[in-house]
Amino acid sequence: MKGSRDDREELRRTGVAVAAGIGIGRAYLVGTGAISAPRHHLEADEVDAEIARLTRAIAVSDRQLDKIKHQLAEESESETDFHIVTAHQLMLHDEHLVDATIRYIQNDLINAEWALRKAVDDIAGVFEAIEDEYFRERATDVNHVAERLLGNLLGREEDFDPPPDAIVVAHDLSPADAATLHRAAVSGLVTNAGGRTSHTAIIARAHEIPAVVGLEDITDVIESDDLLIVDGSTGTVIVNPSAATVVEYRERQRRAAARGAVLMSNRDLPAETRDGIAIRLHANIDMPEEIASALEHGAQGVGLVRSEYLFMTDAETVPDEEAHYRMARAVVEQMAGRTATLRTFDLGADKLAGFLSAASLDEQNPALGLRSVRLCLSQLGLPLFRAQLRGLLRASAHGPMRIMFPMISGVAELRAANEVVESVRNELRAEGVAFDASLPIGIMIEMPSAALCADQLAVECAFFSIGTNDLIQYTMAVDRVNELVSYLYEPLHPALLRLIASVAKAARDSNVSLSVCGEMAGDPIVAPVLVGLGIHELSMSAVSIPEVKAQLRLTSVHELEALVERVLQLPTATEIRTEVTTYLDGLSPRTTR
Ligand code: PEP
Ligand code: MG
Repeated sequence: MKGSRDDREELRRTGVAVAAGIGIGRAYLVGTGAISAPRHHLEADEVDAEIARLTRAIAVSDRQLDKIKHQLAEESESETDFHIVTAHQLMLHDEHLVDATIRYIQNDLINAEWALRKAVDDIAGVFEAIEDEYFRERATDVNHVAERLLGNLLGREEDFDPPPDAIVVAHDLSPADAATLHRAAVSGLVTNAGGRTSHTAIIARAHEIPAVVGLEDITDVIESDDLLIVDGSTGTVIVNPSAATVVEYRERQRRAAARGAVLMSNRDLPAETRDGIAIRLHANIDMPEEIASALEHGAQGVGLVRSEYLFMTDAETVPDEEAHYRMARAVVEQMAGRTATLRTFDLGADKLAGFLSAASLDEQNPALGLRSVRLCLSQLGLPLFRAQLRGLLRASAHGPMRIMFPMISGVAELRAANEVVESVRNELRAEGVAFDASLPIGIMIEMPSAALCADQLAVECAFFSIGTNDLIQYTMAVDRVNELVSYLYEPLHPALLRLIASVAKAARDSNVSLSVCGEMAGDPIVAPVLVGLGIHELSMSAVSIPEVKAQLRLTSVHELEALVERVLQLPTATEIRTEVTTYLDGLSPRTTR
């Protein structure tokens, strides 16, 4: 129930965050739910006229989509939208849709709207029965095409015309409407329906329109013209925010804009220190749709694909070999020759998938339990691990790729995982399936046992990537998601720096390439310390790249090495932080490229 405007208080809801950024604006509600179509029977002599009416509505819909495409074609960056609208045009003429509708008109003697609804329900039913999220989402596309066609059969005007700065609120939005959002300069998008892989979400991300989807009934809560805040990074939607909340979010917006300005100024500058040492800055991503933004932020490669997200977007289904192949192939193709490092799935602890909940492992201490590569090597996870490896290896034929295992405890576990890879490779060879036989296989160093045995591990793998998020957790014995002990979660703790220093030495001695892909790499105060420890490849959230690059361009590697020598002598994180910030604060601006 919607209350009267005066008594409405600030209300917060959380959905699926699909496009980062903060939008503040007035709600623009788009017609919710499906168009209700009239239903009536025809006389036999009315059939031809009814088919002609359907044909006219198809032609009108076609022209509308053409118009949208022309507008998109003028905007060179809108290629994805263009292709989606083209796909809708093809559906409009698809024989399964048109012929089936005509057959219903002829055989059942029913009007075109009714016949169309029946034909669409048949097609959508087939898509929805497919155990693959991507294909199930396509049922939505068929429905969007049908809604447009129905609107034209009923002679309705197209009236999607949100004012600038509006936040569009809808049950769901057709990709064609979503594609017009950025031209209308809207501030955000919130929907009841949708998931991360819906086209609408992809378009919102591509145009950096803050968006939260999957809010279930948000259209029942919001009224036209309500003031809204959309935080597309956390998935928060605030309805009728208080004045204090608006001030807080305007400040966040301002800081984001300031970061954006840094981005624009250094995106094309080399990631290089003053003394000319190149530092490779890579992006951490969850799925291929994030690559465009990663490249825009200046990423030179992808240092971590958290492939487990494929298991987490849909509680019902487990991704099969094809799903892994499609995802990995999309990554390598979009990276167009730059290296992408795909991590095998790292599930368990806080990252749960449907099949894990179903297995009800009932662990006392999941962070120390059957997670990550341990799960992959267990009876429960092994078939899924093999399917993923087959998919990844097949995708490696399409561009440079590296595979890495998370949570490796030591050499025995690395060998066990390598044996599975070897067996999958043999299987593919026997089947004559192409893959990159020299694909580098590496490991994450994210527990102290691996760090302490880094010299031994280096002999049996091609590269290390230090996962500091977990390395801090396991070194400091502090749950990374428990705010009661978060004061101990300190990246500059001497123990951690010593461990990282020893891993860096082992990598150097064995000529194994080394990077850091935990959040430490994206912290502009901590990243220079990592460089001083000898790590010249850092992988982080794409949005952190410009700031880290700007910071590193002010430093010199020889100064950072001297800084690290000093801080390794200090006994507390506080003293180390002071020493580092004093050095960073004393850096002078750089005027040369
Ligand atoms: C890490 O542990 O540092 C890491 C990058 O992996 P995740 O955050 O996915 O555990
Ligand atoms: Mg980790």
